[in-house]
Formats: sequence, C-alpha cells, structure tokens
Amino acid sequence: MMRQLQLLNSEDAVQSWSVRQSPRARRLSVRVFRHGGVEIVVPPRTSAQRVSAFVSEHREWIERQRLRSAPPIHWPLPPASLALSALGEHWQCVPGGGRGRLHVRQIGESLLALEGDTSERERLRHQLTRWLVQRALACFEAPLRSLAAQMGVSPGRLQVRCQRTRWGSCSRRGTISLNACLLFQRPEVLHYLMVHELAHLKHMNHSTRFWNEVARHAPDWKTRDRELLQGWRRVPSWIFK
Ligand SMILES: [Zn+2]
Repeated sequence: MMRQLQLLNSEDAVQSWSVRQSPRARRLSVRVFRHGGVEIVVPPRTSAQRVSAFVSEHREWIERQRLRSAPPIHWPLPPASLALSALGEHWQCVPGGGRGRLHVRQIGESLLALEGDTSERERLRHQLTRWLVQRALACFEAPLRSLAAQMGVSPGRLQVRCQRTRWGSCSRRGTISLNACLLFQRPEVLHYLMVHELAHLKHMNHSTRFWNEVARHAPDWKTRDRELLQGWRRVPSWIFK
C-alpha cells in the first residue's frame, strides 16, 4: 500500500514529482523521466523526514537532469513576439520593410518594427539583444532603487548584461549587474534576484546572515532561487547563438 508522504511541497506536486515505495529497493534513488516527471523510489518503511532530506540534498542535481531531459524548445528568429514576463509586457515583432541594415524600432507600448533586411541573422540577433538590454536598463532601475531604499542600502551604478553564465552580481564597489534574460522570468523571480544582489551590499558572501537578510525581503527566496535553475528554458535560445 502506498503511504502518503508529506514531503513534497505544493510546487513539487505541480511539477509532477512522486514517491514510490518499492519492496525491492535497498536505498533511496531518484529517476528523472523524459517528460520531466520525477520519481523518488524508497525502501519500505522509509520515514518522511528521510525522503525529505534526500530530496533537498539532491534537488539541484534533479533540476539539472530535468532540464537536460526536457525536449528542446524551438525559438524562431525573427520571433513573432517577445513576452517580457518580468514587466508584464508583450511585444509584437513585425517586419517594417526597407532594404537597409536592420534596426529595431519601438512603436508605442507593444510593437517592435524590424526595419531593414531581416535575413542577416547575426545582425538581427545583435539588434534584438541590444533592445532587450536597453529595455532592462530602463525598467530595472526604478524598482532596484526603491528596493534598495527599503533595505537600507545604497548601490552604485546599475549595469545590464546579456550573458549565459550568471543572473546577477554585486561588485565590491557596489555596482549591481543584472542579466537582461531576467526579463523573461516571472516578476517574483526578478524581485528575488534584486533582493539577492542588494543583500550583498551588507554581506559579501552567502552566509546564514546573508540569507536571513534575503529572507526578510523575499520570504519565498528558496522557491525563487530554484526557479532560476530552470529559468534558462524561458529565454529565447537565439540570444546566445
Ligand atoms: Zn550571491
């Protein structure tokens, strides 16, 4: 009989994680399926705490496996639209005609005209990425400053980059660097990352005191932080190649 184990949080339930007791299992193990499902196989009479500890110990590895086994998403270039979830914006991308070198023109609040020759892939990629960086710079500044005021810190300059390696950083001089790809994350995730980097102005490490500071302003930071592991799936792949 399957005992209900209270170890997976509600988010895990949504992400189709399950626990199965197997009479033949000698120790705890985890399977990650192609469709993204996760199954924890446990020996009979394993305590819920034991399973819970096992899950949190291996969570990062599990998330990585899920990411790897997930089917690739096709991101056409030029894109039909850009959904900037962090800002609640949806931009329609339309060919603007013309034959000159391509440039991106912002029209109103929801239209991007791709004017010029859209067949030159590298140019298109570069111009769209540049627009994303500028959009992020324009829109991240105000919330970052007000958050900094709430947290009682005074950051230096804000810098926005578009990179594959990290979501953000805080330099010793107080420069906050945020990844433009955060535009594609949920608003709560962007908020968490801002809190994270600003908290480094108080603690230049990942100590318990640092995380306590983060938790004060983003109580659900653990979930948000975990969400960022999967966050790359929300980013159009053409940005990086
Ligand atoms: Zn950090």
